[in-house]
Amino acid sequence: MPITPEQRAEIDRQRAVETPTRRATVAALEDILYEPVPVLDHGFVRVVDYMGDDSAVVQAARVSYGKGTRKVTEDAGLIKYLMRHRHSTPFEMCEIKFHVKLPIFVARQWIRHRTANVNEYSARYSILDREFYIPAPDQLGAQAVVNRQGRGDVLQGEEAARVLALLRADAEQCYAHYEEMLNLREDGTTLDEGRQGLARELARMNLPLNFYTQWYWKVDLHNLLHFLSLRADTHAQYEIRVYAEAMLDIVRRWVPAVFDAFSEYRMGGAHLSRSGLAVVKRLLAGEAVAQEGSGLSKREWRELMESLGRDA
Ligand SMILES: Cc1cc2nc3c(=O)[nH]c(=O)nc-3n(C[C@H](O)[C@H](O)[C@H](O)COP(=O)(O)OP(=O)(O)OC[C@H]3O[C@@H](n4cnc5c(N)ncnc54)[C@H](O)[C@@H]3O)c2cc1C
Repeated sequence: MPITPEQRAEIDRQRAVETPTRRATVAALEDILYEPVPVLDHGFVRVVDYMGDDSAVVQAARVSYGKGTRKVTEDAGLIKYLMRHRHSTPFEMCEIKFHVKLPIFVARQWIRHRTANVNEYSARYSILDREFYIPAPDQLGAQAVVNRQGRGDVLQGEEAARVLALLRADAEQCYAHYEEMLNLREDGTTLDEGRQGLARELARMNLPLNFYTQWYWKVDLHNLLHFLSLRADTHAQYEIRVYAEAMLDIVRRWVPAVFDAFSEYRMGGAHLSRSGLAVVKRLLAGEAVAQEGSGLSKREWRELMESLGRDA
């Protein structure tokens, strides 16, 4: 379960409070404000605060004094123009703050995105919960043969059962040793009154990467979109991709016009190199073009043909 009954009550209390404001709010985002969106087996992502909306992007681009009198379609057109031409600073005017619960190995990928503000749960100060990620059976991919960074077919039968049993047993054992070093029983009471137990900052080193951590992560819209373009992409590892997909849906609620432009030009579009563009021009002219002599490596050729929906 991603959250405890006490945490649920705290979220409900927070959601019950309404504060009048002159600032821009977005009804579709208010609907899910503070609510955890479940991700993986124990994780979640939830919005705890935000600033700005689609209009904030437009206002910044026009350096206007108010909402202005432009039509929604004109605003959407301007947002598309800004996205298309990578005029990025107006998107930095919107900010969002997430609370994320995620496995440590996912956090290690996530933290590489340096253009955000982060504060992580302190396992020096607090005791980590007995919560570790076990992949769903359909995610137990074998090592991919072509892509050394990816997964292939899903493990089956005895092999899959053995992997799941090993993951679970190792995590359980490590957590039991973590508690023993902290001088704690499973129910959280002290094991031996005569001992202090090892410092939390040291005991935690025994926990595997599939244990969950949590953080607050605040980012502006421009850098969030950069994060999503990399992590909601099919090349990203499934376990971080599912967080990115949940956040994409949050972006859709929050700034629908920006989301449309982002889907059009970034997520749904493709970047062409100079040689790639030359290949496309030759194909359009009806020429038969092969990888040899195209100026593209085999991999680039494969990627281009994949983008164009053609056989490599
Ligand atoms: C599919 C995938 C596979 C990956 N594999 C690996 C891997 O095997 N090993 C590995 O180590 N990493 C790997 N990464 C991480 C990757 O190399 C980047 O570190 C990560 O995606 C963060 O990207 P970023 O630097 O653009 O993001 P951010 O840190 O958010 O930065 C955003 C942008 O700000 C600018 N910027 C930020 N900081 C600086 C700076 N100090 N100097 C100059 N410009 C800056 C850059 O323009 C940057 O693109 C992988 C990422 C992906 C998506």
